[in-house]
Amino acid sequence: TMACMTAMDAAGNLNAFVHPTPEIALEQARAADARIQAGDAPAMCGIPLGIKDLFCTRGVPSQAASAILKGFRPEYESTVTAKLFEAGAVMLGKLNMDEFAMGSSNETSTYGNAVNPWRRGNDMTPLTPGGSSGGSAAAVAADLCLAATGTDTGGSIRQPAAFTGIVGLKPTYGRCSRWGIVAFASSLDQAGPMTKSVRDAAIMLGAMAGEDAKDSTSAPIEVPDFEAMLTGDIRGKTIGIPREYRMDGMPDEIEALWAEGRRMLEDAGAKIVDISLPHTKYALPAYYVIAPAEASSNLARYDGVRFGHRATLGQGDGITEMYEKTRAEGFGPEVQRRVMIGTYVLSAGFYDAYYNRARKVRALIKRDFDEAFAQGVDAILTPATPSAAFGLGEMADADPIQMYLNDVFTVTVNLAGLPGVSVPVGLDRQGLPLGLQLIGRPWEEGDLLNTAQVLE
Ligand code: GLN
Repeated sequence: TMACMTAMDAAGNLNAFVHPTPEIALEQARAADARIQAGDAPAMCGIPLGIKDLFCTRGVPSQAASAILKGFRPEYESTVTAKLFEAGAVMLGKLNMDEFAMGSSNETSTYGNAVNPWRRGNDMTPLTPGGSSGGSAAAVAADLCLAATGTDTGGSIRQPAAFTGIVGLKPTYGRCSRWGIVAFASSLDQAGPMTKSVRDAAIMLGAMAGEDAKDSTSAPIEVPDFEAMLTGDIRGKTIGIPREYRMDGMPDEIEALWAEGRRMLEDAGAKIVDISLPHTKYALPAYYVIAPAEASSNLARYDGVRFGHRATLGQGDGITEMYEKTRAEGFGPEVQRRVMIGTYVLSAGFYDAYYNRARKVRALIKRDFDEAFAQGVDAILTPATPSAAFGLGEMADADPIQMYLNDVFTVTVNLAGLPGVSVPVGLDRQGLPLGLQLIGRPWEEGDLLNTAQVLE
């Protein structure tokens, strides 16, 4: 904990920790020491973590990187962070992210962007750590903490993990409680670990997971000892390579990395099969209808009364002006764009054409995966991202669709509710990390991580 706190002081320029909590860290670290001395050291005892700003942490600023939640200090603790603390973990502070987890570069944050500790060779251009869990990824990659929490609605754990050379796991939907995590798109959101190794991800997931009476979508499914499932033996496993993920214009480096991953799994005794997930091309448009629809509904609660910021009102301003001014000031441009798209696709005249259509597409995407698993596929190997980390400002200034295209390999997994893990597998020509994604059967994170370990 002390070493991490020193590193945090030295690394202010990464803008990863936005609310450091040194008092809490020292108190928790002392308590952890006492537990270790007493011979009662649970899995995460004394492990210093960073916590994404999307998690409500009692008495500590929890702003979802939004100006509208400025000054909000919840009186409650999210279930996931509470479980981590019960397991002995130490909180070093809250981590930067995209506003309300909407983005792929950490550039929509009210705190300004976090910075990727990696550089392209000798070129010092600052790069994005990815998003939305960009602060989490930067902090773990720069050794400011041993691991961090992330959340993933459409790739926000896996894409930043790939951009920073760390491991990021999105568990099966329902594996971790969403209670106390600021909601973005409730049917897609899932918390997960961002770690230095697959083994760490297994240990941390064990501490985060489990049914919770406060979240009816958390599943009454037993949490196994994930770490014990890391046998390293994947002989006889079947790995599917989906042909639809071979995109036009995909850089050869990504192609080569994918082939390399395939070889590594084959060498370890897995059987590789080509599979088809025919509805893949509709995933991105379906995601960018469903996620904003749910977001527009979830964000309706930021009304200037219940949480955080309220605009200064003028003479004669009524409740409507209060809502309008507060939301115009408090939400950044990307969040406003999502609210507008969401309310549009949910509006009476367009509901069937967009929202209902997207829901049907979602069911087809899920069926594609079900069919692959029914044919005996144990896990599916894909690239994690279509490129390595890009320069800050490079995409944000382009049109938003460019940014959305980053999520092309990750959103299918959220739409289908499956577990997916991004593992750092190699470097590109300029020395930047590249990741591969493995997608698993529902509730089989242990098996998935065991396969992922072969790629490490
Ligand atoms: N980049 C995606 C989006 O902006 C995914 C975000 C996420 O997973 N939270 O919606």
